[in-house]
Amino acid sequence: MEKIIDSVTIVGGGAAGWITAGVIAAKHRLKRNFKLRLIESPDMPTIGVGEGTWPTMRLTLKAMGVSEYDFLRACDASFKQGTKFVGWVTGASDDVYYHPFTAPQGFQQAKIARHWLEDGRGRSFCEATSVQVHFCEHNLGPKKLGMPEYSCVANHAYHLDAGKFSQFLKRHCIDKLGVEYISDNVTKVNVAQNGDIASVSTEHHGEIEGDIFIDCTGFRSILLGGHYGVDFIDCSEVLFIDRALAAQVPYENENTPILSQTLSTAQEAGWIWDIGLANRRGVGHVYSSRHQGDARAEEILLQYLSETASGPDKVELRSIKFRPGHRAQFWRNNCVAVGMSSGFLEPLEASALVMVELLAKDIAEQLPATRGLMDIVSKRFNQKFLHYWNRIIDFLKLHYVLTQRSQNAFWRDNCDPATIPESLREQLKIWQYNIPSSLDSHLREEIFSAASVQYILYGMGFKTDIRRYPKVEAATEFAQEQFNEVQKNIDRFTPMMPTNRDLLNHIRANP
Ligand SMILES: Cc1cc2nc3c(=O)[nH]c(=O)nc-3n(C[C@H](O)[C@H](O)[C@H](O)COP(=O)(O)OP(=O)(O)OC[C@H]3O[C@@H](n4cnc5c(N)ncnc54)[C@H](O)[C@@H]3O)c2cc1C
Repeated sequence: MEKIIDSVTIVGGGAAGWITAGVIAAKHRLKRNFKLRLIESPDMPTIGVGEGTWPTMRLTLKAMGVSEYDFLRACDASFKQGTKFVGWVTGASDDVYYHPFTAPQGFQQAKIARHWLEDGRGRSFCEATSVQVHFCEHNLGPKKLGMPEYSCVANHAYHLDAGKFSQFLKRHCIDKLGVEYISDNVTKVNVAQNGDIASVSTEHHGEIEGDIFIDCTGFRSILLGGHYGVDFIDCSEVLFIDRALAAQVPYENENTPILSQTLSTAQEAGWIWDIGLANRRGVGHVYSSRHQGDARAEEILLQYLSETASGPDKVELRSIKFRPGHRAQFWRNNCVAVGMSSGFLEPLEASALVMVELLAKDIAEQLPATRGLMDIVSKRFNQKFLHYWNRIIDFLKLHYVLTQRSQNAFWRDNCDPATIPESLREQLKIWQYNIPSSLDSHLREEIFSAASVQYILYGMGFKTDIRRYPKVEAATEFAQEQFNEVQKNIDRFTPMMPTNRDLLNHIRANP
């Protein structure tokens, strides 16, 4: 009889390691003999950035048994309802569009975009179809005061302090979910006859065994990259950004509004993120080193801070280099990589932590019962996540290819067809005549929904030719009702929604 798989060893204790531990423990910890260990180096720090998440994080935390309000308080977290893109189309002063988290009003029932394309009545696509844009413009929170944990009026995610988040999850996983914690450095990988990892050697705890090893060692990727030498697929010819300068910025005062969205402002050779946490802002400039030197990148960030903060002289800048890309495989033998050990691309749509959540859930759900099943499970896993990486690359690139900014080489090069993946070029041709729909993909669920694609496409001024969609009176009436509904919701909800800051103050003051 084959041995049942009942021991998982995670190496690395950043957000990836602890999310993976929490997701697997929540699902499997009650099984007899199930062992889940996490080894974390006491010497190598976590990356400590990564402040934007997706609404999926609500379900992930809830499934782990985390109290939403404990999490918000411990991680200085705030509510995020989408992203506001400034200057991405023309760079003019009124160049703004949103990618909100709620789907366009009526999206499930009809091709609302068809009617907006025909007669937008002077409103942008996101304004016409989502109440959330109004919430964000007025710094309103997504839930009413006193609402229960994890319930809300508007779909939302969080902005959080990455360092505090790892520490919070660590305590939760150890204290509440029974994860065994080993603080030590992994120094060597010991191999079984079939090429699997039999154990890892540590400095002070000897050899640690496992049926499955999960590599959460960040950019080091010591198991999948270092030990197995799995190829790294470099994406820098498509997505050029490979440098970040990050800063933590105090609020002007305790009444300064807390943004309800990530602010993403286009720059000469990249963009600046601006995120409002409960206690400070997180601001960073990501740029392409091929198109801009470090000194100019710093100058641009300091200029932005001087225009938006109390003064740049108080701020420390942290520089991070990365190579955009991902591994060719994510699961080899009995080793799976989760987090930055599996790849990383610019944080434009905060796709890193959601990939951690998806990978962790898939591992927990598909955990092979025996070693004999593992090769089947890993083959499917690799196909699925390779597809997701390619969709992320296409979706991020979509933000660049429709720009009219031509004054800088960075933006011009982004529009060069040679830098656009064939899959995206084909899809753009189809979208010239077809409104993005869930049928664009063969998967039941894509990483980026058709609603998200519509927000970017039409936010950037793309025009789908709607002649193939006949004008039907009932459909036109329905669409009009949806546009009216957005306005009704604005009128109904605005008076009862607290600001993001008031909501957070209330939660922090009422444990
Ligand atoms: C500039 C920037 C901005 C980002 N913004 C976002 C964002 O807005 N949203 C988002 O979702 N993501 C974002 N990310 C990505 C996000 O930060 C990471 O995906 C997330 O923090 C997970 O990192 P990690 O756990 O994979 O790696 P790390 O945080 O680097 O953790 C690695 C762990 O491995 C351990 N380790 C390494 N070697 C050994 C060893 N030999 N033995 C034992 N332990 C070892 C280390 O001690 C550490 O605990 C951003 C990243 C960057 C660079």
